[in-house]
Amino acid sequence: MSYPFYVLKFRDGEPAPMKEEVIRAVLGPVTVDGLPARGLPEWWNLRTPDGGEAEVHGDATCLSFTHVSGRLVLDRMAELARRTGAVVMPLDCPVLLQREHDRRHLPDGDLRAHAIVVPPATWSGRSIEQVVRPLPEPPRRPVPPRFAYHSGAGAMAPSDEPCVCCGQVRGWVYTGPVYGAEAPSRGICPYCIAFCKAAERYGATFNDVIDGEVPDEVAREILERTPGIPSWQSPRWLTHCGDGAEFIEPAGAEELRHFPDAVEALRRECAEWGWSAERVDAYLTALDADDQPTAYLFRCRVCGTHLACSDFT
Ligand SMILES: [Zn+2]
Ligand SMILES: [Zn+2]
Repeated sequence: MSYPFYVLKFRDGEPAPMKEEVIRAVLGPVTVDGLPARGLPEWWNLRTPDGGEAEVHGDATCLSFTHVSGRLVLDRMAELARRTGAVVMPLDCPVLLQREHDRRHLPDGDLRAHAIVVPPATWSGRSIEQVVRPLPEPPRRPVPPRFAYHSGAGAMAPSDEPCVCCGQVRGWVYTGPVYGAEAPSRGICPYCIAFCKAAERYGATFNDVIDGEVPDEVAREILERTPGIPSWQSPRWLTHCGDGAEFIEPAGAEELRHFPDAVEALRRECAEWGWSAERVDAYLTALDADDQPTAYLFRCRVCGTHLACSDFT
């Protein structure tokens, strides 16, 4: 277990020393090369008959146990706490108490509020394990791939399933649109998009229409190796300065407040539809990142201008 554990005793909110002879009696027999005849070393190693180990630091006021392995080490820790009236405190987990009555001795706050009472009859290494085990391991997801034309926003979700294309558990699944009769509509990892694997294998594309002229290589990158835009209809990929723009995020009126150049682009688009000024204003105010109508915010990779288009069904 990579968690450090602390064994310490509280009286009236303050740490109070444990009896040194009890520490020696409980930990001495499993200390590598034994404890010195008197006093406690700054740190020492434990080894139990089941092959368990731990490193002990501190003094009678607070002992920390690190690199803990094996049930018998936990049993020793529990016994030490039981015989000294101490608590066991695994890092970032609730404190283990032996009696409800002792709760009042803990420092006020979270420590006291969340402490768990384990009755002395069941007080053992196993009860410590039960408090520690339920905590999920911290997620160790790889960083998702980066795309030149897409920020990644709204295009993928964490997943522990293997990718349908490469068969590997990559930690992420693509959640945007997939075009192509042979292509699976879900279950592709974003790496298979970035590395063109899904496009080669299924003839899949992830975007449909590019709005403007760009070099063939750019068009292929956007259609085949760039996630699509999570949208109500299939939106156009915007271009500027002869290059594809980078998709930033779905945006509502609130998000667009910071991008007047993008709002202007939307106004021009609405004007082309022949809408009155009032109708355009009402439409722009109603834009919502999560509900239609939604705007799609882009940024020119060359000049930095923000652009947007919108859709509704
Ligand atoms: Zn894959
Ligand atoms: Zn530009």
